[in-house]
Amino acid sequence: MWFTLSDGNALLIHLRMSGQMLVAEHGEVTSPHLRIRADMGDVELDFVDQRTFGFWQYTQLIDGVPQPAMHIAPDPFESDFDVRETARAMRRRRSPLKSVLLNQEVVSGIGSIYADEAMWAARLKPWRSAKTMRQRDAEAVLDASREVMARSLEQGGTSFDALYVNVNGASGYFSRSLNAYGQAGKPCARCGSPIKRVVVGGRSSYFCPTCQVL
Ligand SMILES: [Zn+2]
Repeated sequence: MWFTLSDGNALLIHLRMSGQMLVAEHGEVTSPHLRIRADMGDVELDFVDQRTFGFWQYTQLIDGVPQPAMHIAPDPFESDFDVRETARAMRRRRSPLKSVLLNQEVVSGIGSIYADEAMWAARLKPWRSAKTMRQRDAEAVLDASREVMARSLEQGGTSFDALYVNVNGASGYFSRSLNAYGQAGKPCARCGSPIKRVVVGGRSSYFCPTCQVL
């Protein structure tokens, strides 16, 4: 994420694994993992990061995008996101579909959880090559990604441990609505077959072996 600053530059922020942005009253946050405290007048903006992989970076804006983020493709919520063109870009890759959905240079913002949920919704196998996908299937999995992330945002996101919180420090509860991710052994909500786990491109992927056949 980034903030556009009054001097025309940007404050670029990466949360990485455990970074939290908290809006709080002065002195309210007392975590031992508080790394940066920004005085915003009435409130303060605190950066709490247990594993310290996250960062804040003061940087130049180029055409409205911070310079270090220039190589990152639009995410499905951006106004200039083009589902047809992104689907075409996916179909130029030989890699497994799961890896392509996680490739930030093709489409950004889709993590492992939402990739699995989107492939479940579009009935696509995680390990299948993106290259041989039909255009309509590539568009369907992108549409499903956007839809599942929109539903998750309404519920505050997917907090699978205490590190995933909103700016008020509250956890999301979309984990109750997951159909594939983390559901190994549980019945598929569509067909009842047990969900399975497989490793694709070094990442765990959860899928239904019966109805994810495309
Ligand atoms: Zn199924």
